[in-house]
Amino acid sequence: MSTETHQIIVNNLVVDVVRKDIKNLHLAVYPPNGRVRVAAPLRVDDEAVRLAVISRIAWIKRQQARFEGQERQSAREYVSGESHYYQGKRYLLNVIYHNAPPKVVLRNNTYMDLIARTGSDTAKRERVMIEWYRKQLKSAIPPLIAKWEFKIGVEVLDWRVKKMKTKWGTCNIEQHRIWLNLELAKKSSRCLEFIIVHEMVHLLERLHNDHFIVLMDQFMPQWRLLRDELNQAPLAYETWEY
Ligand SMILES: [Zn+2]
Repeated sequence: MSTETHQIIVNNLVVDVVRKDIKNLHLAVYPPNGRVRVAAPLRVDDEAVRLAVISRIAWIKRQQARFEGQERQSAREYVSGESHYYQGKRYLLNVIYHNAPPKVVLRNNTYMDLIARTGSDTAKRERVMIEWYRKQLKSAIPPLIAKWEFKIGVEVLDWRVKKMKTKWGTCNIEQHRIWLNLELAKKSSRCLEFIIVHEMVHLLERLHNDHFIVLMDQFMPQWRLLRDELNQAPLAYETWEY
């Protein structure tokens, strides 16, 4: 009897499937990011699991929307004492009001000093942080793309960073352009590298099929660990389509 988990994609939804010696099929959606897991009896094949998931898709979407709503409620206010993440590490935010150009400075491996203009509101403080994250991420990306262009043998003609609700990255194959989620600035650099590799492998294989998996295994054998790290780390409410 195998209790190994594997994954299937149903309507762009990643579903963890585990087979067990049980009578009924169990479907659950887990916080914080709405991971979908099915425990299926040994005799139930993937096609039957797929149909079961499709029949409950409205319920799954409702659960996922609920988790996302909870995440929004605990939205950051950018005040001292909050936890904020950078490159996979937690920092304590320390807001300093000062009449000087705003900036963010990491200190003692512990503090994230946000220097903001006197009287700036939450939206302004947030903007300073977002621009800082964007700048850091944008400087981390080019060397990784260059490294993997060489290793994979493909060319990225353009790359961009933007906020995305549901994906870590996307690839426009015709334009050889990749988009990366700004949230990746908060994740470890190995996770950023994994997403870059994933999107670049799409230049060889459009679909998330067996060939794609073979290529990922070849270029980045530890990619499953990185995927799990990305989707389980704090602040990750995004789901990712594979
Ligand atoms: Zn993909």
